[in-house]
Amino acid sequence: MDEIREKLFYEQKNGYDIIGTEERIALEDYSREYMQFLNYARTEREAVKLAIDLAKAEGFVEYKYGMELKPGMKIYRSNRGKALMLAVMGEKCLCEGAVIAGAHVDAPRIDLKQKPLYETDELAYFKTHYYGGIKKYQWVTIPLELHGVVALKNGEVLDVAIGRESEDPQFVITDLLPHLAKDQVSKPMNEGIKGEGLNILIGSVPYADEGKDRVKLAVMSILNDRYGIAEEDFLSAELTAVPAFEVREIGLDRSLIGGYGHDDRVCAFAELKAMLDLEGVPSKTCVCILADKEEIGSMGVSGMQSRAFECFMEDLCEQTGASARRCFENSFCISADVCNAFDPNFPEVSEKRNEAKLNYGMGICKFTGARGKSGTSDASAEVVAHLRRIFADNDVVWQMCELGKVDQGGGGTIAQFMANRNIDTIDAGVPVLSMHAPFEVVSKFDCYMTYKGVLSAYNEKY
Ligand code: MN
Ligand code: MN
Repeated sequence: MDEIREKLFYEQKNGYDIIGTEERIALEDYSREYMQFLNYARTEREAVKLAIDLAKAEGFVEYKYGMELKPGMKIYRSNRGKALMLAVMGEKCLCEGAVIAGAHVDAPRIDLKQKPLYETDELAYFKTHYYGGIKKYQWVTIPLELHGVVALKNGEVLDVAIGRESEDPQFVITDLLPHLAKDQVSKPMNEGIKGEGLNILIGSVPYADEGKDRVKLAVMSILNDRYGIAEEDFLSAELTAVPAFEVREIGLDRSLIGGYGHDDRVCAFAELKAMLDLEGVPSKTCVCILADKEEIGSMGVSGMQSRAFECFMEDLCEQTGASARRCFENSFCISADVCNAFDPNFPEVSEKRNEAKLNYGMGICKFTGARGKSGTSDASAEVVAHLRRIFADNDVVWQMCELGKVDQGGGGTIAQFMANRNIDTIDAGVPVLSMHAPFEVVSKFDCYMTYKGVLSAYNEKY
């Protein structure tokens, strides 16, 4: 009886019932490295900068147009410091396709407006315009850091990071005390805190002088001392408030990781690490993309809809005498992005049979989208089978999943933009609890299996 069930039924096991001691150690080592990466990379620029440093340490060199390319060469190209493409040149001609993994390194956050600074009632604030899909009430009364750049008229670009170091001050958006929140708490949750209400408190001491806006003046003079900037310089700045939480192990068994920006730096790190760990010359050229702007639709010059990707791939093809069109047609892309992990606190939004579970491994989404699969690229059955085979051959623990119940909501990734380029693409990544919250949770096991999954696709002998 049991034999026939085992033969005919598809049953999944908890990942910890599958792996041995050796992999348990490997996943702890991997998680430690990832936590360091996430702790530093609070913005897409910081993620790109750190990724370049890590790549250089492994022998990657900056690709310059016209550079001679040979199998085994490791190259990278930064897209304006906000997105990154890396490649390890394979044995085969690029006309036979590349193995691509693409993740994004931007994450939901609170951007400063271009004219952010104001004083009211003898307190100084920054006005903000949030970035990406957030539940606004989650972003008040948490410690915030300020990261980004100020580009000066003279061409100089100043890096800003306030709040990262333990001696730095931090920032906060205040909320109403419960004693006076009678009206607020009876509103729908999306109206309790409004977009224009996300004003960041930045100072309270007046400048020792007569005149108006003395607190604003005092705050501006601190910024001037530290960065040499004046109020007008905010016009050409990209400053953003991000959660100041340290990345920590979660749970008594330390099996989970809590931190800001798992979506999608957890997959970005997995594919970056896989790329850095490639040994020898891969069969096909391996490409790793760290994209920007996914959270707002992959628009813009650093988003995945940008032709910056074609530009890079066409350069590689041109240099090695391959047709870029043939390359795309024969390529395979893992759109490495997070998926929703089943949350027992909110079972009503999920259809359990098809939802990802923590500790069940890398989550594969054949399709994403919303309301009847609208807006998805929907990987073909053949592509899913291709991945099944690679994962089976390499003992990758994985699970097939879907984002919630039908018609409950939905979402998209960069997959559609890769597929539109005539590249076979499938979504795969780490299941997340509290996605898009200032403090998201993932399982170490799933993080490690996502790394292993991408590495096995890169290492495939085609
Ligand atoms: Mn994502
Ligand atoms: Mn997201």
